Amino acid sequence: MHIERDRVVVLHYTLKNDAGEVLEASHGSAPIAYLHGHGNLVPGLEKALAGKRSGDTLSVVVAPAEGYGERSPGLVQVVAKSALKLDADPVVGMQLTARGPQGTRVLTVTQVGRDTVTLDGNHPMAGKTLHFDVEVTEVRKATREELAHGHVHGVGGHQH
Ligand code: ZN
Repeated sequence: MHIERDRVVVLHYTLKNDAGEVLEASHGSAPIAYLHGHGNLVPGLEKALAGKRSGDTLSVVVAPAEGYGERSPGLVQVVAKSALKLDADPVVGMQLTARGPQGTRVLTVTQVGRDTVTLDGNHPMAGKTLHFDVEVTEVRKATREELAHGHVHGVGGHQH
């Protein structure tokens, strides 16, 4: 059975950046499972997987536009330290959750000044070229319930 819309795909993956550093990997833990054709993976990776079968391995390079998007300078803001109600002193790399009109957003502290903090609302992988190594371990038909929910149930998926 090959990968196409409405199939459940189980896979192991490693994600590296341009420098070859591993950013994420499923090896050593459970494989992930996703419902193909429902926007559950970044578009560039989902496209590359179409037509593959169980046992196939592939290496995919995904440009930012087909990955987590380009970085948006408008999502970077400098705020007064005193405006942030933090339990601890902000440090570079710290992530804060902010509630706004578009829902919850994760902000990463990218600079700490004497009185100010720079917060970046871009996805941490925005603007990055993604290098995936993927091994497809299973392809099956989705159940009616999975199709209704738009995601996989059971091992590697939602447990509910
Ligand atoms: Zn569900």
